[in-house]
Amino acid sequence: MTEFLQHLGKDSLKINNEQQNDKNCKLQKFPNGVTYLMNYQEGFQLEIQNNILKNVYLYGNHDKQFKPYKGVLPFGITFTMCNAHIVAKFGEPTSKQGGGPINIGISYDHIGIEITFQTKTWDQPNVAIDQIILYEPVNQTICGICKKNGDLRCGQCKLVYYCGVDCQKTHWKQHKGFCQ
Ligand SMILES: [Zn+2]
Ligand SMILES: [Zn+2]
Repeated sequence: MTEFLQHLGKDSLKINNEQQNDKNCKLQKFPNGVTYLMNYQEGFQLEIQNNILKNVYLYGNHDKQFKPYKGVLPFGITFTMCNAHIVAKFGEPTSKQGGGPINIGISYDHIGIEITFQTKTWDQPNVAIDQIILYEPVNQTICGICKKNGDLRCGQCKLVYYCGVDCQKTHWKQHKGFCQ
């Protein structure tokens, strides 16, 4: 996994060449310079734009084409987590997606992660992760509780920012079980 994280936003030629010779991989090239590399057996897909690794998709156990990704997930995530667990771990997300025809998902831009769940409705919150998408993180420090600016960071996991100790204390009640 760390291998992918190191390559995000950078030259991906090495991954590209290694994977191209793997018979479990399928390569799809588009005229706009975007290449998708699907590894159905190992449960991941790479999105490469002009030799830069832009996105890494890691599949859980509900995809029809991809087998579940068995490698170590980043930041101590497990596929059995539901969205309440993820918010306990990372705080309030930068944005939410989905609903209707699309699985619901939440994103954290300062970590560079989007997590979708195996449900299309926010009314059914306690369901496991469907897919994890990794992208290049952006430099921002937004409080994981009230979403104001804040550069106080959880000293232990360093994954959540807070505007001050009040928000940190509020989050700690849920966060302590997921801080690692
Ligand atoms: Zn706050
Ligand atoms: Zn923490």
